[in-house]
Amino acid sequence: MNEEERKEQTEYEQRRAARRAARIKRHRRQMRMKCLLALGCAVLVVIAGWQAVRLIKGRKAETVIKETPIKKIVQTPPEYDVQLLTVNEYSRPGTALEKVTGIVVHYTANPGTTAQQNRDYFEGLGLSKATYASSHFVVGIEGELIQCIPCKEIAYASNDRNKDTIAIECCIPDETGKFSEASYQTLVHLLAWLMGRYDLDIDAVIRHYDVTEKLCPKYYVEHPDAWDALKEAVCTYIDTYGTETPDL
Ligand SMILES: [Zn+2]
Repeated sequence: MNEEERKEQTEYEQRRAARRAARIKRHRRQMRMKCLLALGCAVLVVIAGWQAVRLIKGRKAETVIKETPIKKIVQTPPEYDVQLLTVNEYSRPGTALEKVTGIVVHYTANPGTTAQQNRDYFEGLGLSKATYASSHFVVGIEGELIQCIPCKEIAYASNDRNKDTIAIECCIPDETGKFSEASYQTLVHLLAWLMGRYDLDIDAVIRHYDVTEKLCPKYYVEHPDAWDALKEAVCTYIDTYGTETPDL
């Protein structure tokens, strides 16, 4: 190989080396671009995922708020006279009523008697020892209302349910056992107030009959539609006179 040829060879080698270097440089640049692209994609996926979770959580929170029912509470009871019985074994044992889970409606079964007479009858049982009987409230024919037992104590009215219910006796004008209009109005108001006070729904309002199948309150056992109407009247009362409270 002469001088000329060697020079040519060297120049050729140099051009090749330069091309290879340029190729490697290009390759590295491409690799860097790919890495950056991949990283960018990964960041986008993470952000998109985070946004999606936020959206779902937001929707859930919104749904919960929308589904939270607004409960209405009747704040004021009907006017009533407190005439607590003397603590005695037969009508006011003084036993604590731990938790109220229901309200039981009764009728007095003695037409024409007043709320006062029925309250005094319960009081008299402490002396006569005739039977075990009482009620937290007695609703009179004129719509009058007497409380005989504190709501924190049990009454002797509803057998197995004495331990967790409030008892209401209703006086009756005649043998049919149908409540007078005035009694009915007081009873509806009293039930509506007690439901709010003890956070109960309308299914917690029951008849003595629903506990023992006793014919009590007579008219409302013989006429289940009248009983349903009474419960409906309580719901309407709450809806009309209750104040809104979130049911948390
Ligand atoms: Zn009864």
